[in-house]
Amino acid sequence: RLEIRNLVRHFDGRRVVDDVSLRIMAGQVTCLLGPSGCGKSTTLRMIAGVEMQDSGEIWVDGKLVCDTIFRVPPERREIGLMFQDFALFPHLSVAENVAFGLRTGTRTEKRARVAELLERVDLIQFIDGYPHQLSGGEQQRVALARALAPRPRIMLMDEPFSGLDNRLRDGIRDETLSLLKDEDTAVLLVTHEPEEAMRMADEIALMRGGKIVQRGAPYNVYTRPADKAAVAFFSDVN
Ligand code: ATP
Ligand code: MG
Repeated sequence: RLEIRNLVRHFDGRRVVDDVSLRIMAGQVTCLLGPSGCGKSTTLRMIAGVEMQDSGEIWVDGKLVCDTIFRVPPERREIGLMFQDFALFPHLSVAENVAFGLRTGTRTEKRARVAELLERVDLIQFIDGYPHQLSGGEQQRVALARALAPRPRIMLMDEPFSGLDNRLRDGIRDETLSLLKDEDTAVLLVTHEPEEAMRMADEIALMRGGKIVQRGAPYNVYTRPADKAAVAFFSDVN
C-alpha cells in the first residue's frame, strides 16, 4: 500500500507539484492522468526517491519512507520502476537483466524466480539471449519482468507503453495488468492518454497544474468530468 500526503515541489519558484495526496491499495492500479507538464513525472520521481520533495510525506505499507527530515534511499524502498526509457543493460543477458534487482536468495532461487517471470511474459526461450536480439515489445516485457523480480510492494510506471505500436501495446497492457494483480502490487501509472487510463485504471487521478483536480472510477471521471478543463482534456484526445 502506498500513501502520499501533501507532496509539494517547486522548480524556479513555481509550484510544479502542489499539495498532492494519494492512497493506493495492494492489487489496485491508479492512473495519474494529465496533460504534458502538469507534474506527473516529478510526483513519481519523488515517490521513487530520486527527487526530493520540499514538503509532504511518503508511506509504504504503513511505514514512513520519506518526509523533509527522514529519507529511505531509493534502493531500499521496495518500489519497482518502469519508465519509458526503460533501457535494459545491453551487456547483460536477459536472465542477468531480470536478476539484476534480486539481492537475496541463492543462485538456484534466483534462477527459478527469473525463469518464472520469463515464462509469465512468454520469453523463456530468450533466457540466455541478449537485449539487442529482442524486438522493442520483447525488451519491454523483459523490463517488466526485471521490475517485478524483487516482488516490489509498489510499482511506478511512467508512460511505459508509449514506444509501442497499437497492436503490441494492447497485448502488453493486458499482460502487465494480470502480472501486477497476481503479485498483489500497488500500481501508480502515469499517462497523458485518457484511453490508456480508461483501460488500465481501477481509479483515475486527474492532474492539472500540479494539483489533483478529480479522482474516481474511470467511468465516473469520464462521464462526469469535474470542470470544463477536464471536459476539454478528454475530448481533445478523442
Ligand atoms: P509529460 O507528460 O510531458 O511527461 P509531466 O506531467 O510528467 O509531463 P513533469 O516532468 O513532472 O511533467 O514536469 C512538470 C514541470 O516541472 C514542467 O513544467 C517542467 O518543465 C518542470 N520541471 C521538471 N523537472 C525540472 C527540473 N529538474 N528543473 C526545472 N524544472 C523542471
Ligand atoms: Mg512525464
